[in-house]
Amino acid sequence: MTLADIEARVTTAAMDAGRACEDISLIAVSKKQPEARVTAILEQGHRIFGENRVQEAAEKWPDYRDRFDGIVLHLIGPLQTNKVRQAFGLADAIHSVDRSKLAKTIARIAQEEGHCPELFVQVNTGEEEQKAGIMPTEADAFITDCLSMDLPVRGLMCIPPVDEAPSPHFALLARIAARNGLTGLSMGMSGDFEDAIALGATHIRVGSAIFGARDQG
Ligand SMILES: *Cc1c(COP(=O)(O)O)cnc(C)c1O
Repeated sequence: MTLADIEARVTTAAMDAGRACEDISLIAVSKKQPEARVTAILEQGHRIFGENRVQEAAEKWPDYRDRFDGIVLHLIGPLQTNKVRQAFGLADAIHSVDRSKLAKTIARIAQEEGHCPELFVQVNTGEEEQKAGIMPTEADAFITDCLSMDLPVRGLMCIPPVDEAPSPHFALLARIAARNGLTGLSMGMSGDFEDAIALGATHIRVGSAIFGARDQG
């Protein structure tokens, strides 16, 4: 599909949900995509992108930022504490705040650097052992801790289990956000972003539907 096709689907899903499409950020997830495909999307005027690895973001995005103005980069993958400072220099938002040690490191580096990317707390809505994210039962306390450290928490993020219907996970994430007074919801990928928009997504992370299949490995 083209970028325009995806944008049209976002608009339709927003209208169906009685929402304004300005309230939904389409994050084009460019991880493992060849340079030509990313440049093509930039040349069409799109400026909001997502990468899931600090290393890959560092290799690609300083150069794109030199060539194009107004880029907003979201870091959507797991973040090691020893990469936090580097992430601050690369990303405008971090979607994977999921443990106390990471939150404390971000708070310290925010103090030192005098700024902080916008943050999303990742919730493991499916309570999957191998998956990142704070457990739903621990989310309220963790969010409270993050806010008490003055972290700029914009909202919550989830990646539903691959083998389950996503909507109950999106609805759970929306409930946790609402009861904690958070308005941002990073949820929905290529296969389910319309369901996510119906349930209140403010940030959808769409990769393969925009760029085509990724290089493996
Ligand atoms: C890769 C990735 C996406 C995009 O996945 P697609 O299925 O290609 O849309 C979204 N979110 C995260 C966290 C990812 O790592």
